[in-house]
Amino acid sequence: MKVTIDWLGVATFRLTLGETVVFLDAYMDRVPSAPPVGLSAMDVERADFILVGHSHFDHLAGADLIAKNTRARVIGSNETCRVLRDQDVPKEQLLRSQGGERHRLAPDVTVRVFPGLHSCTWCAGTVALDEDMSGHEGLTEDERAAVAGGLVEQITRAATVGDAARELREHIGNAVGSGDSGGALVYLIETPQGSILFQDTSGCWSGVLRDLRPDVAILAAAGRGNLDGEPFQGSLAQFIAQEALWLQAGTVIVCHHDNWLPPVTRDTTDVTPVREALARTAPKTKLLEMGYLEGMELLS
Ligand SMILES: [Zn+2]
Repeated sequence: MKVTIDWLGVATFRLTLGETVVFLDAYMDRVPSAPPVGLSAMDVERADFILVGHSHFDHLAGADLIAKNTRARVIGSNETCRVLRDQDVPKEQLLRSQGGERHRLAPDVTVRVFPGLHSCTWCAGTVALDEDMSGHEGLTEDERAAVAGGLVEQITRAATVGDAARELREHIGNAVGSGDSGGALVYLIETPQGSILFQDTSGCWSGVLRDLRPDVAILAAAGRGNLDGEPFQGSLAQFIAQEALWLQAGTVIVCHHDNWLPPVTRDTTDVTPVREALARTAPKTKLLEMGYLEGMELLS
């Protein structure tokens, strides 16, 4: 079975597993000022499955169009499926999952679903991969809500000032998605050639990752890491290296680090900090760098 992967910006990927086409997230149609990824959800002609990590628009938007145009089945949380039902995606195409499920994608390919965690958007917005972050441990939800500088605050500010504000407001207002993450999910795709883990936000339960052994781990690098429900103490690069160590992954692919929502985000695609952190913490793991729509072969 030939396995190929294309990165389509943020945490969206297209996998081909032999004859089967699987999208991981579906967000390709971004603000006009973001670098184009080379494909629009409207133009996707083939998809068998869409695996949605969580329900925010920068992951879910586009799944509605692809599902309706290709009849692809969608695996996602209750919130993801509720949003897609509201967009008139037929119920039969929606496979609601919470973690604990195993779905068949092809005769010899399955995907297992595990519970994940969303990154700590309440205490950090866009950050550099090597930015050292500390503190904010042990706070209640009320105390977290009072912390300044989070992603929502950054977006709200950007939507009110400057030339790009209207573009940003319109984009977010029109994008299909939810204000709730819906609960983040992690996917482990198992093929005869090996396995691929997909995690589309920088949060994890260490007890889940410690027992998985993917050949390839796709890991998000955005915001403040969320480790077992507490903000990670250290940089995003260190967070990814720690995850790679638990997973004992042969290869790591980083995502969500492109300039997907200017002027809120910036380009942090120089992954040197991740490479250095891996060399220190998980030296057996190699980093695979990827541009948009490059059609790379995996697991060969
Ligand atoms: Zn999110």
